[in-house]
Parts: sequence; C-alpha cells; structure tokens
Amino acid sequence: MSHSPQPPADQPNPLASAQRATQAIWGGEGGTTWQRATQTPVVNSVSFGYGDCDEWRSVALGETPGHIYGRNTNPTVQVFEEKVRLLEGAAAATSFATGMAAISDTLFTLLAPGDRVVSVVDTYGGTNRLFSEFLPRVGVVVELCQTEDAEAIERAIDGGLRVLYLETPTNPTCKVLDLARLAQRAHERGAIVVVDNTFATPINQQPLQLGADLVIHSATKFLGGHADALGGVLAGDAELVRSVYQRREITGATLHPEAAYLLLRGMKTLALRVERQNFNALTVARHLQQHPRVAQVFYPGLEDHPNHDVAKRQMTGGFGGVLSFQLHGEFDAVKRFLPRLQLAHRAANLGAVETVVAPPATGSHVELTAEQRAALGIPETLVRYSCGIEDVRDLIADLDQALGA
Ligand SMILES: *Cc1c(COP(=O)(O)O)cnc(C)c1O
Repeated sequence: MSHSPQPPADQPNPLASAQRATQAIWGGEGGTTWQRATQTPVVNSVSFGYGDCDEWRSVALGETPGHIYGRNTNPTVQVFEEKVRLLEGAAAATSFATGMAAISDTLFTLLAPGDRVVSVVDTYGGTNRLFSEFLPRVGVVVELCQTEDAEAIERAIDGGLRVLYLETPTNPTCKVLDLARLAQRAHERGAIVVVDNTFATPINQQPLQLGADLVIHSATKFLGGHADALGGVLAGDAELVRSVYQRREITGATLHPEAAYLLLRGMKTLALRVERQNFNALTVARHLQQHPRVAQVFYPGLEDHPNHDVAKRQMTGGFGGVLSFQLHGEFDAVKRFLPRLQLAHRAANLGAVETVVAPPATGSHVELTAEQRAALGIPETLVRYSCGIEDVRDLIADLDQALGA
C-alpha cells in the first residue's frame, strides 16, 4: 500500500534539498532497473508474482515495499508519484488516470454529507460541475465565492468548513488568490486546504510551502507537457494522501503505466519548458497590451494586474505560461482571428510545448450562456493563449499578422 518509495530514515534523500530542475530529472529514478537500463521501464504487468507466501502476505499488508496488483500500485507509476512528491516538497503523493479523477476522488474522500466546502466560482469547468451538481447531490454543502473578493472568501471560511478548495491562477482570466492568507484563515477553523496547482506548476508556485495541506495537478497539462498523455496527481500530508489513495484503489481511476512513462519523460524538461513559457507569456502579454486590436490582457505578471503583488510574492519562479486577452468588437472578431493563427493549435488543452489557443465561449465555458460568462468576468471576445516553447519572436509575428490582417 506504499504511495512512494521512501529512503530509510538514516539515509536522507539528497534530492529532497535539490533544486527543482534537478528533482525533475533525477527524482524517483533509479529504483526500477531492468537489465541495467538507465531509463525507467514501462512495467506493463497487471500483477506481481510471489513464490513465498510470507513475503506475499507482507507485501500485501504494506509491511514490505512491493507491488501486488496494477489497480493499486505499479513500479513505473510509482516513479512518477515520487518525482511529483519531491517537486512539491510533499510527504506523500498518489496518482490518477486524469486530473478530474484526482479532484473528484479527493473531494469525495474528504467530504461527507452535511460537510461544508468553500471554493470560488472560477475553478476549472469539471471541478465546478462537482461543486454545482455532484457534491450537493450527496448532501455536501457548497459555498462558492467571488474569486476577486478576498473578504467574502474569509467570511465564508469563518462560517465553518471541512475543506477550502482553491485554484490559482484561475482559468481563463488569470485571477490570483492569496494562498498563505486564505490557508491560515481556514486552518484557524480546522479545515483542510486543497489547491489545484495545474496552471502554476511546482516550478512557479509551491502551495504546500504556503500552508496548503494537499496539492493537485492535471498532469495532462504542464507536467507532461507534450499533450500526449492524461494523468492526475495528489501530493501532501501523508495521512490525507493515504485516505484518498485507499479510495482510488477501489474506485479504480488508476494512472496507466504507459501514460506514467510519457509523463515522466515529459517531466525531465519541466523546468526548462516552464521557464521558457513564463518568458514567452510575459513577453506576449506586454506586446498585446500595446496592440490596438486588443481591449484587455489578463496575466498576473503585468504590473497592472489587480493581484500582481500577491502573484509576485507566491509565484516565485514566474507567472506561468497561460494568458488571456479580449479582442475589441464582437465574437466575429474571434472567428476571424483564430483561423489566421499559424503557430497555435485551436484546441481544448494548455501547457503543451506547442502554443494552444481557445476561446472560453467555445471551449472551457461553452456550456454557459453569454450572461453566465459575463457574470464570471469572461468577455465573449476573450481568447485563452497557452504559450508553447517556440521562439517568442515568431509567436508575436504570428499574433500580429492574425490580429492585423
Ligand atoms: C485540465 C484541468 C483539470 C482536469 O484535468 P484532466 O486531466 O483533463 O482531467 C483540472 N484543473 C485544471 C486547472 C485544468 O486545467
């Protein structure tokens, strides 16, 4: 039942204090060798065999490290969990088939009928469906606050709660929540603080160091980085991670070893990619701010972002690879602009090595009415732009020709 291989207490893991670029490369690797291979193999085996009944029982009871059955643990998957554990500075980590599996298994483990959860209106669309539909159905009381109103969130916290669930920067308007301040307030009420760190990545922001108890990623996005594998991961307090893991063992949304391999391969370049994406996004945001066809740019790295000071304090590596911008005019302006882009996938994804662009009106928030989007501060002509690792001069030239033609 082990979540991740832990070195014995008398043998401190030097990677625990290493820089994150080093952890992304070496973290978790080396424990699973096959014929002296230097790379972690994909172990496509549903079960693991034992000739010795005592050993079998000991592994099955979690007293001895090892694997029994692939829905529970797998060597390739475990290396992925250990890498994320180190990057987030967590006591434990466990993984899931998708980011939504991580989020739903976590919330349904922590929350029982009658419990109260406080969050914000700007969470990821799938998370928002859990809050608006699936959790209330089992009697969980959900209170969603306006993301930009810190006092309203604090008042909701003071009303008592079991879980505070946060996501920052938010999708798609890049609002920023003050994690340290809200986590402290929630802990005064005895709550568990969960943060979706997908947009920021552990390179830019480490919620556990800011007071969160649990951090979640859609590994599908920046962690994997190549838009070729789905995955999710939960890291943080060992007891909490264990309780969610025990649920996932049964609900069965297990990360596949092939996906774990692709995510591991992608993560070796995580720091390089994110540093470039931070640079590209800030450069593009500054350029678009001056552009006559652009009404407004949303990016926490811009000095005039309403929470720039908070972002500067808590996003120590950079402000992330995702920005959004509002075009002047009606939705027709978006319809003209998008097909002209040469260097962007028009798709429902983000965090990849290629630039990916999507208007919330047809993508993440397509199921809402224009009025509902307006209530969330999402203009009809908003475009979400997730920078890849291309040369930023080419991205700017591409944006200019698509905007200006
Ligand atoms: C994509 C995403 C998710 C869901 O992840 P999947 O891997 O698609 O299930 C959750 N949170 C955020 C912020 C995301 O961008």
